[in-house]
Amino acid sequence: MPIQPTIDNNKLDRIVAEARRNAEQRELGYRERALKMYPWICGRCAREFTRTNLSELTVHHRNHDHDFNPADGSNWELLCVYCHDNEHSRYIDHVRGAGYSVQEEVAPATGNPFADLKAMMERGRK
Ligand SMILES: [Zn+2]
Ligand SMILES: [Zn+2]
Repeated sequence: MPIQPTIDNNKLDRIVAEARRNAEQRELGYRERALKMYPWICGRCAREFTRTNLSELTVHHRNHDHDFNPADGSNWELLCVYCHDNEHSRYIDHVRGAGYSVQEEVAPATGNPFADLKAMMERGRK
């Protein structure tokens, strides 16, 4: 009688792969649109980007809601990875100081568990 201990793992792999694909597609969707709409310049330090280093230019959501992507791009801002980090740590400090909790930052798993992972991988790539 064959033993099939990997059935659950296979199912889990499929679910994970599908979630990752969805996350990547959503990310690509607004990133591509933002890159078409705005010049490739960091909105904070004014560093300019070309195709070769474009992976270091990220799309920031002004209201910190990654699901809020209006067609006119008003919620997007292009930031280099360094300024983007600063922007988010400032936001967290500000919000913590004011006594709110930030679901997106504290519990990213509720929204898009792979967005942060992908961003970290892109950050690590030189
Ligand atoms: Zn910058
Ligand atoms: Zn951001």
